[in-house]
Amino acid sequence: RFSTAAVAEELIVPPVQISYTQHLIDGKFVDAASGKTFPTYDPRTAEVIAHVAEGDKEDIDRAVSAARKAFDEGPWPKMTPYERSRILLRFADLVEKHNDELAALETWNNGKPFEQSAKAEIPMLARLFRYYAGWADKIHGLTVPADGNHHVQTLHEPIGVAGQIIPWNFPLILFAWKVGPALACGNTIVLKTAEQTPLTALYAAKLFHEAGLPPGVLNIVSGFGPTVGAALASHMDVDKLAFTGSTETGKIVLELAARSNLKPVTLELGGKSPFIVCEDADVDKAVELAHFALFFNQGQCCCAGSRTYVHERVYDEFLEKAKARAMRRIVGDPFKQGTEQGPQIDSEQFQKVLRYIKAGIESDATLECGGERFGSKGYFVQPTVFSNVQDDMLIAKDEIFGPVQSILKFKHLDEVIRRANQTHYGLAAGVFTTNIDVANTLSRALRVGTVWVNCFDVFDAAIPFGGYKMSGIGREKGIYSLKNYLQVKAIVTPLRNPAW
Ligand code: NAD
Repeated sequence: RFSTAAVAEELIVPPVQISYTQHLIDGKFVDAASGKTFPTYDPRTAEVIAHVAEGDKEDIDRAVSAARKAFDEGPWPKMTPYERSRILLRFADLVEKHNDELAALETWNNGKPFEQSAKAEIPMLARLFRYYAGWADKIHGLTVPADGNHHVQTLHEPIGVAGQIIPWNFPLILFAWKVGPALACGNTIVLKTAEQTPLTALYAAKLFHEAGLPPGVLNIVSGFGPTVGAALASHMDVDKLAFTGSTETGKIVLELAARSNLKPVTLELGGKSPFIVCEDADVDKAVELAHFALFFNQGQCCCAGSRTYVHERVYDEFLEKAKARAMRRIVGDPFKQGTEQGPQIDSEQFQKVLRYIKAGIESDATLECGGERFGSKGYFVQPTVFSNVQDDMLIAKDEIFGPVQSILKFKHLDEVIRRANQTHYGLAAGVFTTNIDVANTLSRALRVGTVWVNCFDVFDAAIPFGGYKMSGIGREKGIYSLKNYLQVKAIVTPLRNPAW
């Protein structure tokens, strides 16, 4: 019904249609029980691109009951793991076939550069599902050598109906992190997309049904957090909850889960990750990596390297070059070739980023470049760099979730370890050094879920990801994600007594 061709002349992509805007429940696209819809936007222009079914408690009830039936009676958990694996593999093939449509829809609704969607994120989506397809028939328990005259074995069984809530910054990648392991283990799912980006998960779910996924196994309800999200988190018939979003909302869903049926919860939350440039660093390379660590995806990454700690010996050179690099950053229409930075997701995030920039200017930090809106329409923000940032400033403490780099100076290794760890967050860290002793010391001392040494944002399907402290509970991706979606059953049988 709508086409990107109408919005951008310099299209570098085939036009994509918005075909799926209803909930997907029990294998069918259906309107919201209330008949209500809500608008979804193109962040380049703030124009409405579609109206999407707006869910509420009743839609969640319907979706959970479809997922329950598909789990209790349906073929999914009863299929052989090999059959499940083949459906995941067929889905990955379809993702590859529809790479450009999925990428265009992701960029249209989210604003991220099309080249990033098409060349990195959609291929990663296929890769993640192939990875979990590989696990489907390798999940098994143990034979346990217990004391006494018993044969003891464990079964690793699917946990049941999984409720999954995802944010808007990587709509399809986070869909894959949640759906891949849950399906590989034989669970059924009710997934709530972010209200800002409801479109691509519906498209992907349609492809899943084309791949042979039985009805009711993957249900998607669009809508808002306090209604749809809360109904899912507090549902008595949901057996597990996986959430990605802010720390604030993470606390709410954990409480809802506890107050309802004590469903186990995994949380991927916010961060304020340090990126540490040591005195031996090749400054040009360090600048480029620190720039990428912060500005990638418009700065809208939970693990963004948003505290750039630079050793005093290289600080001045680093600062000058970091500023020059930010000023060279290409901001513009994400559908244009070469664009590095598109718009922020929506008006709320755009205003929030500008408020933090104002707070930075009002503190004693030095604004080196940027600091304002870019252009006059949509939600674009100039790449912004602050120097002379101190640990107690708001811009060094809060998650800004935008293209704002804060550069801080340090002198000693012990000092930077203490300062880097002085936060409630603990998601990730970057370390830039050629000294192996320094790399190892920092890697062990930093209280975070991922340390990237001389690299950043490496998101292979096999590498676990998650946070220490208030950045989350549990790990996603890799082998670690499987246990989020499995129950362990011990079966104990007496061995034949020779005296009988
Ligand atoms: P958010 O927490 O407001 O929203 C995330 C999801 O939770 C959305 O689907 C939203 O509708 C839902 N939600 C909101 N209120 C809810 C409620 N009361 N009950 C149930 N669900 C509710 O976060 P956001 O603003 O969409 O995303 C930005 C934040 O997410 C950032 O702080 C970022 O760090 C974090 N994030 C973390 C990761 C990670 O992997 N750790 C990944 C992406 C984003």
